[in-house]
Amino acid sequence: MCHAGGSVPDGVEGGCTRALKRFETIVVGCGGMGSSISYHLSRRGARTLVLERFKLNHENGSSHGRTKIIRTAYFEDPRYVRLAKRAFQLWAALEKETGRRLLEVTGGLMIGKPDSPIVVGSLRSAREYSLPHSLLDTKELAERFPAFAASDSERALYEPNAGILFPDRCIEAHKEMAEEEGTKFHFGERVTRWEAGRSLVTIHTEKETYAAEKVIFAAGPWNRSLLPDLRLPLECERQVIFWFRPSTRGELFNPRRMPIFGWEVGRGRIFYGIPNTGHGVKAARHHGGRVSPPDEVDRRVTAEDEAPVRTFLKSRLPLLDRTPISSMTCTYTNTPDGHFVIDRHPRHRNIWLVSPCSGHGFKFSSVIGEIVSELALRGFTRQDISLFSLARLGIT
Ligand SMILES: Cc1cc2nc3c(=O)[nH]c(=O)nc-3n(C[C@H](O)[C@H](O)[C@H](O)COP(=O)(O)OP(=O)(O)OC[C@H]3O[C@@H](n4cnc5c(N)ncnc54)[C@H](O)[C@@H]3O)c2cc1C
Repeated sequence: MCHAGGSVPDGVEGGCTRALKRFETIVVGCGGMGSSISYHLSRRGARTLVLERFKLNHENGSSHGRTKIIRTAYFEDPRYVRLAKRAFQLWAALEKETGRRLLEVTGGLMIGKPDSPIVVGSLRSAREYSLPHSLLDTKELAERFPAFAASDSERALYEPNAGILFPDRCIEAHKEMAEEEGTKFHFGERVTRWEAGRSLVTIHTEKETYAAEKVIFAAGPWNRSLLPDLRLPLECERQVIFWFRPSTRGELFNPRRMPIFGWEVGRGRIFYGIPNTGHGVKAARHHGGRVSPPDEVDRRVTAEDEAPVRTFLKSRLPLLDRTPISSMTCTYTNTPDGHFVIDRHPRHRNIWLVSPCSGHGFKFSSVIGEIVSELALRGFTRQDISLFSLARLGIT
């Protein structure tokens, strides 16, 4: 089977005895990031191959889970605000291009004590970037959004520019548009190792060997074992997500009445949720899961996983029935500071590394695809990505 790429003659890069299938760019991984990177590379005319070890929209990585939150008043750091704004624009453009509904705007609530990082940080981002927002006390919250029961000492930062992304559709849309431009996707093909030559990188999979001028590793927690020379401080953390049905007043939980939310119930202890888009209300704890190698994540969901979410719902969303109707496991790829990694390999100029997770990356996948395609093809990007450098992690 021969693909869009040409072939590299014997011996050009390291003495192979047969012609390799050659591409301008190879993307390793087709989750939220790999699919978007492939789309933006294809729009810039790069002959691209995407290698994914599982099938499209599988459930072994980070990008599944039916729905993801998108928000702008970023409590983690105001430097994400510009990226969030661009991400919104690109999702809207992709919706227009494909005619598919990828995003539903619901508004967003970040709830906690007035001095909690989630409220203080969201407010800071909203003020710094003049984002539309309002700060609600308990009474105002209950009046506007009766699904929520905050305590008297809590406040809620409401922002209208927040909502829900449908990740499977987003990934499919990026992939199909890239395919239309000639990008090749190989599913069920695991990359096993690579070698960097003077101008080409050789990629070995379980089935084949390829050559590319540039390679982008977007393999989530597997980036660590694919790039062992970098000793990346990435941790794979197991997460469990649940869906619940309302026990009464179901209309309060649909996306027109209920915003997405994050709720800091104690210092650094955050729960989040997404209104009912047909599968029930999604709710989960942010972090607090076991760390394990990505191929050894325990996929069984236990009563122990359920307990903290049930306790949270009992006091904060009391109209929900606390017996989950479904659940799923998923993994965060955490960096020590919670920020992403988007950078060039320090010793190989034609290799790029992308790991935007730590539990909040999906919303940015549209803009990260744009950034990485600019970096790989032109060597620079118009966005400020200094927050995501390898150097800040001591990797030089
Ligand atoms: C429970 C949960 C909830 C989340 N909620 C949100 C949210 O509400 N909003 C938000 O913005 N973000 C959210 N995130 C974070 C977001 O989902 C991630 O940041 C994002 O999906 C990461 O995408 P990725 O492409 O980097 O990783 P992945 O989706 O893990 O993709 C990596 C891909 O690489 C492939 N791969 C790995 N090794 C190889 C190999 N050797 N050869 C070929 N392919 C390989 C994998 O199979 C995988 O498909 C959440 C994450 C989780 C787990």
